[in-house]
Amino acid sequence: MITASPGARITHHQMASPADTAPKPADWRQLWRDSLTDAAELLRQLGLEHLHSQLPAGNAGFALRVPRGFLARMQHGDPHDPLLLQVLPSLAELEQPPGFAVDAVGDLDARAAQGVLHKYQGRALLIASGSCAINCRYCFRRHFPYGDEMAAAGQWRQALEHVRQDASISELILSGGDPLALTTAKLEELTRGLADIPHVTRLRIHTRLPVVLPERVDEAFQQWLTALPLQKVVVLHANHANEFDASVDAACTRLRATGATVLNQSVLLRGINDHADTLAALSERLFAAGVLPYYLHQLDRVQGAAHFEVDDSRAQALIEAVRARLPGYLVPKLVREVGGDTAKRPV
Ligand SMILES: *Cc1c(COP(=O)(O)O)cnc(C)c1O
Ligand code: SF4
Repeated sequence: MITASPGARITHHQMASPADTAPKPADWRQLWRDSLTDAAELLRQLGLEHLHSQLPAGNAGFALRVPRGFLARMQHGDPHDPLLLQVLPSLAELEQPPGFAVDAVGDLDARAAQGVLHKYQGRALLIASGSCAINCRYCFRRHFPYGDEMAAAGQWRQALEHVRQDASISELILSGGDPLALTTAKLEELTRGLADIPHVTRLRIHTRLPVVLPERVDEAFQQWLTALPLQKVVVLHANHANEFDASVDAACTRLRATGATVLNQSVLLRGINDHADTLAALSERLFAAGVLPYYLHQLDRVQGAAHFEVDDSRAQALIEAVRARLPGYLVPKLVREVGGDTAKRPV
């Protein structure tokens, strides 16, 4: 459940003085607040009103949220648009086939401290925020409000304590939800706390925000990341080449200018990117934006997402087809997350 989006904290608008004519970059929190939350309006905006009767009641228990800039990248009038299908509630989500669970990846067992998942050697993952700027229908998060699990609670105290006590942790991973849903001030608080933990040498940020709301990569954020005295990795999440436009390209350029290595992970999704052409086009588009493909995930088997699943043999055939046509550095690793494993498992 998203209880407090960052946008909700904005209580007043900045007034531009008359002399101030240069257009100000849009404030990301304002854009966040302006997002679409009504499925009927989403359909109306795309000229797809006639699909209204196919919407599940109550959005099938997972709110709709779509930034308007992401909506603008959808094809008007196309009910199969690959961006639309990632966010539109569907009746198929109500199906309950066997094998699709609520805790599909065993996260509940890996909790090491408040908001900390410590499953893999050398890397601790912080559930930094429970919020996302977009709600993706295939996501495990639909069952995880993560209400009390935020690492950012209490000035990150518990999370930092866990990391301080374990010298084997060299990489801190911020995940969520979306860690960039936090304000830059909140991120500064974390990195101040890391200053006296010398065994942490890398900070990794897993975020979909630069893709779905690229204005989030603003000047203050850029300054924070640039000044960080750690190695930096940003792992984006895009599933289709159409998610990129000039504003996303610009956000990727700003990210790389901080000195961060920028990678991408995708989820293999039936009806959205399960064609070799589509996957190859995504890799090419990522590279054009200065981003390297990292992982292609097999879907987590979460309740409500079964209709997106691609079976393993097809997934392997797809990745082989991509391998046959692209340079090796543009072929993502096809993996699945298995509870109890020591790493993501190659498919
Ligand atoms: C996926 C994941 C990581 C990172 O794994 P990499 O293979 O290094 O990308 C770390 N911790 C947890 C809990 C994860 O789920
Ligand atoms: S965690 Fe990522 S995939 Fe899941 S809803 Fe948020 S942005 Fe989408």
